[in-house]
Amino acid sequence: MSQNPKPSLHPATIAAQAGGLLDADTGGVVPPIHPATTFVRGEDYAPVVEGNVYSRTAAPNGRMVEGVLAELEGAQDAMVFPSGMAAVAAVFRTLPAGACVLVQSQIYWGTTAWIRDFCTRRTITLIEVEASDTDAFVAACAAHKPALAWIETPSNPWLRIVDISACAQAVHGEGGILVADMTTCTPILTRALDFGADIVMHSATKGLNGHSDVLAGALSVADANSYIWQAIRTDRDMAGAVLGPFEAWLLLRGMRTLPLRVERMSSNAQKLAEYLSDHPAVETVLYPGLTTHTGHALAVQQMKGGFGPLLSFVVKGEAEAALAAVARLKLFHRATSLGGVESLVEHRHTIEPHTGIPEGLLRLSVGIEDAGDLIEDLGQALGQ
Ligand SMILES: *Cc1c(COP(=O)(O)O)cnc(C)c1O
Repeated sequence: MSQNPKPSLHPATIAAQAGGLLDADTGGVVPPIHPATTFVRGEDYAPVVEGNVYSRTAAPNGRMVEGVLAELEGAQDAMVFPSGMAAVAAVFRTLPAGACVLVQSQIYWGTTAWIRDFCTRRTITLIEVEASDTDAFVAACAAHKPALAWIETPSNPWLRIVDISACAQAVHGEGGILVADMTTCTPILTRALDFGADIVMHSATKGLNGHSDVLAGALSVADANSYIWQAIRTDRDMAGAVLGPFEAWLLLRGMRTLPLRVERMSSNAQKLAEYLSDHPAVETVLYPGLTTHTGHALAVQQMKGGFGPLLSFVVKGEAEAALAAVARLKLFHRATSLGGVESLVEHRHTIEPHTGIPEGLLRLSVGIEDAGDLIEDLGQALGQ
């Protein structure tokens, strides 16, 4: 099925051609959907196609998208899941009771909430630390010797930038592994494995698919023979958190335009961030592409070709002013999620009122529309 693309190809080529996948039976330039759940064996009772036995263990469309993702990520292997949270859970379920984990504070709320609950039930010691403060992260590693550390950069919705190399070095020094949620970056902006992370996680629901029509998650690994990777594979196989063939096929289709979309979302977000920085109704703009952002220098080192679609800003006048501006927006959909082709706006304080999110904070996921149209919409909503 695969034409074995040369490893030196650039992301735009790998993505556009889905890693060289074709339909071997028809010569179609798009691979087919394989809905079969079970696969025949020959007279010798060996599987007719090696590896194809039952689709909970491995299924053709899942393998296709995993192959392309691994190539984009510079990974030895990748696995897809039916949601981002299923991928998070697959990682944490490999931990034995009594283990210790270090998790970045103020990250995607769903991750924090699930991990807290899981660690309590499993009697796993959970240490939360502001990982964008490298000294705090290193000190927490030395003090607690975690088996696993979890970071997210840029973080959601604070846009904090975490030094992946420094964190990897610190946790490796104590014998643990580093997992990085790189949902906001996608492998186009940052390949975290190149910076020393052991496993990269993505909510593929977001930028990887990019069209707000597939729920999926993914993990990529630096060492496919590592104990944890084998344990995650067994867990997915046995516990059954697998992505269906239609979703896998759609995800592969969405990923064909990933580099283009990321480029446009990033350049649009940069323009909006600069516009908002000068706006009198705006108190602060959190975007790593701004030279005034505390993580800017590090973001320049870690992010290639842009700073992603996610941008938060604080409106003067607390919740009332922020919600009034949101109500006036015409192009931005008032909806959660990020990384899709259409721009979204969220008032995070309404969603998670007790987590310290400023009342006036609005989070934007900037899409691929015309930047001028988006700026005009923000302008009329904020009152120029
Ligand atoms: C959405 C999201 C998740 C969870 O992914 P789902 O696909 O919604 O399960 C995890 N991390 C980040 C950063 C996200 O944005």
